Amino acid sequence: MHSKKILLVYTGGTIGMMQDLNSGDLKPLDFNQIVKYIPELSRFPVNIDAYTFPPIDSSNIAPDVWVNVAQLIFEKYNLYDGFVILHGTDTIAYTASALSFMLENLTKPVILTGSQLPIGVLRTDGKENIITAIQIAADTDSNEMPVIQEVAIYFEYKLFRGNRSIKFSANHFDAIQSPNFPPLAEAGIDIEYNYNVLYRSENKTLQLSKNLDNSIAVVHLFPGISVEMLEKQFSDIHCKALILRTFGSGNAPTDEKFLKWVENLIKRNIIVANVTQCLQGSVQMGKYETSKYLKELGVIGAGDMTFEASITKLMYLLGKYDDINKVKNLFVKNLRGERSE
Ligand code: ASP
Repeated sequence: MHSKKILLVYTGGTIGMMQDLNSGDLKPLDFNQIVKYIPELSRFPVNIDAYTFPPIDSSNIAPDVWVNVAQLIFEKYNLYDGFVILHGTDTIAYTASALSFMLENLTKPVILTGSQLPIGVLRTDGKENIITAIQIAADTDSNEMPVIQEVAIYFEYKLFRGNRSIKFSANHFDAIQSPNFPPLAEAGIDIEYNYNVLYRSENKTLQLSKNLDNSIAVVHLFPGISVEMLEKQFSDIHCKALILRTFGSGNAPTDEKFLKWVENLIKRNIIVANVTQCLQGSVQMGKYETSKYLKELGVIGAGDMTFEASITKLMYLLGKYDDINKVKNLFVKNLRGERSE
C-alpha cells in the first residue's frame, strides 16, 4: 500500500478570505496563508501538493475557470489518487455539475469543499471541511480502489453527488444539500459511505470535454409574467437553448399567447427545456394539463435534475454536438448520475 497523493486545488471563496481592515470587506487570501491556519495539514498521513489559481469569489466563476480546473485534473490525473478543490459556496454546485460532465469516466475522487466562515475565524467550518474532504479523497475500499469515483461536494459532515447539489442556505453551516438524492457519505466518528448509491462509470479511460457553449437563456416564470415582454426580449436573440423555470411538476400558463411564444422559439430551432422551480421532486410533463401542451410543442423535461445540472449539461452538450436532436436526446438521459431514469 503506497501513501496516498492528493492534489489540493485552491480557487478562492470564503474559505480563504480575510477581512480587509479598512473597508471590512472579505477579500481572498493567498494559499500559503490558508495552510498557516491549518497546521494539521502537515501532520496528515497523505502527501498533499497544492495548486493555486488566482483566488476569486465564486460569483465571478465562469466557464473558462471550469475549463482550467478540468484541464488541470486531466493533466495530473495519473500523478494523484484524488483531488480536493477549495471553492466558494455561492457557485460550488455549478462547478461540481460542470466538472462532472466535462470529466467523463472518472475513476478517482474529485471533492469540492468550501466554508461559510473564513479559515482564520475562530468558529470556522473550513478546517473540518478541508480535513475530511482530504480524508475522503484518499479513502480506498478493500480492493485498494478509490471509494469515491465521481465529482462530489463535502460540506458540514455530508458528502453529496456534485451534480445533484444546490446551495441551500446563505447563512447556515449546512449550506449544501442534494434534495433529490441521498448523501454519498456521512462523517461522524467514522466516515459512513452509502455504497449503494456511489457512481461507477462503465468505461475507465478519462475523457475531457473543454468546449462549453453558454448561448443559453433562462426565464423564471411567475404569475402575471408579461408575454409581450418575453416576445420583445427574445425576438432576435441568438440563443441555442432556453430554460423555462416552471411551477411544481413542470407546469406553465396555458394561455394561447404564451404557448405561441414557446412554439415560435421551437420553430426557430431553440431547445426549450423545462426545469421546475421546486428544489425537490421532478418535472413530469403531461401530469397536468398545464404541462401537457409544453410536451406537445416539443419542450424537453429536466426530470429531477437540479437547475445547476440542467444548465451545465446544456453547455456541455451544446459544446459537443451540433445536432440539436442529439443534444435533446442526451439531455433527457442520465449521463453521470445527475438524473433518475
Ligand atoms: N461569496 C463567497 C463565494 O462563493 C461565498 C462562500 O464562499 O461561501 O466565493
